[in-house]
Amino acid sequence: MRRSPIDLVAGELRVRGTGLYLDARRRRPCGFVSHAHADHLGRHERTIATRATAALARHRLGDRKAGEVLPADYRTPFGLGELTLELFPAGHVLGSAQIRITLPGGLTVGYTGDLCTEPTRTAEPAEVMPCDVLLMESTFGLPRYVFPPKEEVLAAVRRFVDETLDAGATPVLLGYSLGKAQEVLKHFGELGYPCRAHPTIHAVNEVYEAQGVPLPNVRLLGAEGPEKGEVVVAPPQLGRSAAISRIRPRRTAVLTGWALDGARWFGGVDASFPLSDHADFPSLLRYAKATGASRVFTLHGHAEPLARELRREGLGAEPLRESAQMELW
Ligand SMILES: [Zn+2]
Repeated sequence: MRRSPIDLVAGELRVRGTGLYLDARRRRPCGFVSHAHADHLGRHERTIATRATAALARHRLGDRKAGEVLPADYRTPFGLGELTLELFPAGHVLGSAQIRITLPGGLTVGYTGDLCTEPTRTAEPAEVMPCDVLLMESTFGLPRYVFPPKEEVLAAVRRFVDETLDAGATPVLLGYSLGKAQEVLKHFGELGYPCRAHPTIHAVNEVYEAQGVPLPNVRLLGAEGPEKGEVVVAPPQLGRSAAISRIRPRRTAVLTGWALDGARWFGGVDASFPLSDHADFPSLLRYAKATGASRVFTLHGHAEPLARELRREGLGAEPLRESAQMELW
């Protein structure tokens, strides 16, 4: 199999022969930022991102050392040197984008960033990005990662919330402060549940609302704590913080795709639900085939097993390897 047209150099993706980096953490002359999660975010001299991602990145990084932003719309091709770039929604968090790069010879190379093909209330729904070569995330790239339909998972979370409220306790839902939290707040707020957002989440909510995603029935969780009948949403790492510990009585649930591995990772919670903002294994396979790519490179998480399964299905697939190692072969 031929090399990927995108090199992995010291853990960072670079379009070969150009100064364009994809989701690099270090400051680069030109960087595409697929979305505003910390593991994809850097302060570049020139940043290519959607307007929503640029706004979320500004919130997360501050304006200090902020470079120039080249805001890009979905499905609107634009030139960068000899390359033509086009963004497609990735369905992962607000503003998340895949990028398709057309090389000077006409070959199209797609990079998914983090991808979620399930319906979403707070992100732009993912679209298939047709391409010749696909670089695809493989976070849940093992056959055992099959998520139940999202509406079923949300119905189960609602039962947990109702039972907790009926018992006179406060339901505390733990989800990542960017993306998962807004998705669950949108769900419960629109159903009429009064919600309280931890300050970390509330600050992100304000960016969502400014970008046109209203989050009704959501108030800031202040020092006074929630009132009876309210649903609290907080980041998972703050599940045992003072702000949460003093809510009594309470029942906590963590919302993460990793809940399929069992609740053992999440000590101290009463329940876990597999609500994910990533595609599960069958969805990754379906997506790769739908792009029409003849070559697929997998990266992040379970890259090897996913590539193996794609090969079994007839696609040329392998994990993306460090370019320096490949030079030695
Ligand atoms: Zn992400």
